[in-house]
Amino acid sequence: MKSGSLLLKNANIITFDTSKPYISNGDILIDGGLIKAIGVGEKTDDSAEIDCAGKLVMPGFINAHTHLYSALARGIPIPGAQPSNFVQNLEKLWWKLDLALDEESLYYSALVGLMDSLRCGVTTVFDHNASPGFISGSLNTIAKAVQGIGLRACLSYEVTDRNGPEGAESGIEENVNFIEYCGEKSPELLRASFGLHASLTLSNKTLRECEYYGTKLKSGFHVHVAEDKADVDDCITKYSKRVVERLNDFEILGPKTLAIHCVHVSEDEIDILDKTRTNMIHNPESNMKNGVGYAPVLHMMEKGLKVHLGTDGYSPNMAMTVRTANLLPKLVFGDPRKGTDEVRTIFSRNNPRLASEFWGKPVGKIQKGAAADIIIVNYEPPTPLDENNWWFHFLFGVPNADVETVIVNGNIVMKDRKILSINESKILTESKIIAKNLWERFVNE
Ligand SMILES: [Zn+2]
Repeated sequence: MKSGSLLLKNANIITFDTSKPYISNGDILIDGGLIKAIGVGEKTDDSAEIDCAGKLVMPGFINAHTHLYSALARGIPIPGAQPSNFVQNLEKLWWKLDLALDEESLYYSALVGLMDSLRCGVTTVFDHNASPGFISGSLNTIAKAVQGIGLRACLSYEVTDRNGPEGAESGIEENVNFIEYCGEKSPELLRASFGLHASLTLSNKTLRECEYYGTKLKSGFHVHVAEDKADVDDCITKYSKRVVERLNDFEILGPKTLAIHCVHVSEDEIDILDKTRTNMIHNPESNMKNGVGYAPVLHMMEKGLKVHLGTDGYSPNMAMTVRTANLLPKLVFGDPRKGTDEVRTIFSRNNPRLASEFWGKPVGKIQKGAAADIIIVNYEPPTPLDENNWWFHFLFGVPNADVETVIVNGNIVMKDRKILSINESKILTESKIIAKNLWERFVNE
């Protein structure tokens, strides 16, 4: 639903704004895609209104790393013995699935993944696409789903040499074309980054070419880094250096680059990430699922690194991911104090800062002048909620509560759990058929 000005009334607001983290019974005036005013009694005569009494109002969540192409893999049968390590997981599942994707299945995968994201209150995703059977035009296909549903996405294509030199060239071209398109047209909901799969599937020749274009376009890169020890071993064997050192030699790192995972990094590599102001993206649930280890998140933050949170496609649900990110260091270090404050910083400050840099305006906060990306959650706290304890209501209450209404760029895109821009039940009926056909191609790969 396109809205002119919109007034959210009687809202209890978690703002993610450190200067005023919680506002009780306030109003939010939205106009022109932005938050125009926050306070009591802010209204104009022609504003549409939503009464938020008894609900919790928050900024839309930001997922700093996901793979929409994986959304139709839910329940997929993997032939033969189950993958027992990271490389087998790539070879037996993801590299067969992505090869089986065509235009239609990629489009529906993106639609389904974005619908799920919206239902969990996620309004911005940083996506990393792989569809080697359908490379050229793949980012436009995902962009069509993003704009059709109406949330924000930064898109990239995973360049890799594993599908031969033509596949690598085509991946580079896809990134370049989409980065140029976003640069020329500045579509409000879309941004672009230069995607690279990971060191272990990228030759020096290909990396050199990516470095050339990424530097020329000033796009930054979106790349998996040392997710598993296999990536490190491959790099040392082939190039006698570690993954971060190799990427730094090609000038892949920098303040616009997203270095995903960074589980197996040395002290020197952490220093390189810090010195280059590279964005580290932590994906705890995916790392647990793949059994690859726990990234040195707390140590990185002590050293000043910018750490962010993503799902790696494991789940669309950022509130649950926050809960896991908070629990994991307590288990790893045997200390119930570990991670609580750091995860609050990661999610409520660093993720919004990352999106704000890509969009060139405040995104992911409820403050005057910020993008009007707002969720209304069906959460009436059973205990006092105030500016000192809001984070604990987030950790222990929000993951269990339904997101009812979602506003992106001032437009209501989901109202009372119904996504307004699309026919959800029709898409789900069709996606089941498309997924079945995709799975048949997957099994026959
Ligand atoms: Zn990933």
